[in-house]
Amino acid sequence: MTATIRELSCADDYDPNSMPVDKARDFISKVLMPITATERVHIRAALGRVLAEDIVSPLDVPGHDNSAMDGWAYRHADTLSYIHPEALAGSAGATTMRRVGTSYAGKPYLDPVGKGECVRIFTGAVMPPGCDTVAMQERATEDDAGIHIPNDLKPGQNRRFRGEDLKTGATALKKGALFSPAALGLVASLGIGEVSVYRKLRVAFFSTGDELKGIGSTLGPGEIYDSNRYTLYGMLERAGCEPIDLGNFVDSPEAIRGAFQRAASDADVIITSGGVSVGEADFIKQMLDELGEVLFWKIAMKPGRPMAYGKVGGAHFFGLPGNPVAVMVTFYQFVRSALATLQGRTDYALPPMVKATLLNKIKKMPGRTEFQRGVLTITANGVEVRTTGDQGSGILSSMTQANCFVVLATDVGGIDPGSIVDVQMFEGAM
Ligand code: AMP
Ligand code: MG
Repeated sequence: MTATIRELSCADDYDPNSMPVDKARDFISKVLMPITATERVHIRAALGRVLAEDIVSPLDVPGHDNSAMDGWAYRHADTLSYIHPEALAGSAGATTMRRVGTSYAGKPYLDPVGKGECVRIFTGAVMPPGCDTVAMQERATEDDAGIHIPNDLKPGQNRRFRGEDLKTGATALKKGALFSPAALGLVASLGIGEVSVYRKLRVAFFSTGDELKGIGSTLGPGEIYDSNRYTLYGMLERAGCEPIDLGNFVDSPEAIRGAFQRAASDADVIITSGGVSVGEADFIKQMLDELGEVLFWKIAMKPGRPMAYGKVGGAHFFGLPGNPVAVMVTFYQFVRSALATLQGRTDYALPPMVKATLLNKIKKMPGRTEFQRGVLTITANGVEVRTTGDQGSGILSSMTQANCFVVLATDVGGIDPGSIVDVQMFEGAM
């Protein structure tokens, strides 16, 4: 059951002025309703989308017992009854067999294979009738007497079984799974060319700030180029959403009201950056009270303290802070998992924390969870991480150098080199 925002905000332990990261994530997850609209697409177009149906195997994969090696197919029992004299002398030795034909991948040998007989076989070729084992070609020798098959193989060795990957009627992929390159191949191996996926999530976003200019404009005094719309675009594309860039707006109710209205009528999700800090939030808050149900939080995290969450019309709304690093951190920590739920994904989990040895000193005050940008490496000494230089929330270059967040718990203070710290990999999300 999904709850309403008002219901949740009435909970006893709800404190918008100091919201722990986990609690904020948990709160958001309770209000989300996955989309239900689906479309059928060619499997190639399904890459990165979310499956809206179970994929049930219509056949056995592989369809026949077949060889895992280039070599010789034979009946294992024959190596026991046809023991070569060498075997008696101590080594396992070999059994001499008579070659009766060849089984190629796609061109099987169909006649029954008799006692003491063997068939030349190639990888993926169907096991000839009567054969159960394959000796790899490097282990067998051939001369005028016949094919010498070693006696020390196990019964069934180098044979792949019919249906060992998938059996007819088995669920190959579950509804709600992300359609990955491996899924694409698996579905193709079943001969299925089209699948049902959820409609792409439409995510409208815009920036707010009097100082912002678009690319192509000349900067006046104190003005900066709007970068948040580009990091957001990139992260939304990576998350498999349809990004709708509404532009950037000055901090005025007139300018922003229209953008919210357009976004709410057009999109499943609205993301804004800037304008949620204490000094700026007032008019946005007022406007959103008219248009929907929105809560402003101070999250106990760094970077990314102020954040708004709610519904505007039918759309979910995430009001992210303006600072460029804070936008990326809050997107990673809150928005990405929310989008995954809305997309219908049932297999999404935040990347697991990895333990690493810290290489440099970190300064920190207790009270907030910090997400410092780090570079994780694996060396002869194990898994190590160092933080990228300046950790200011406006320093976007720290994000381009990093491959992970070093996650420092709320109550932790400064940390010395050599300590073990928690690390979250970016994993292609950023
Ligand atoms: P705000 O949250 O609006 O107070 O903004 C915090 C900081 O982030 C300020 O230094 C802003 O100039 C900067 N900022 C806000 N929006 C953007 C944006 N779209 N692109 C780059 N920097 C921004
Ligand atoms: Mg601003």
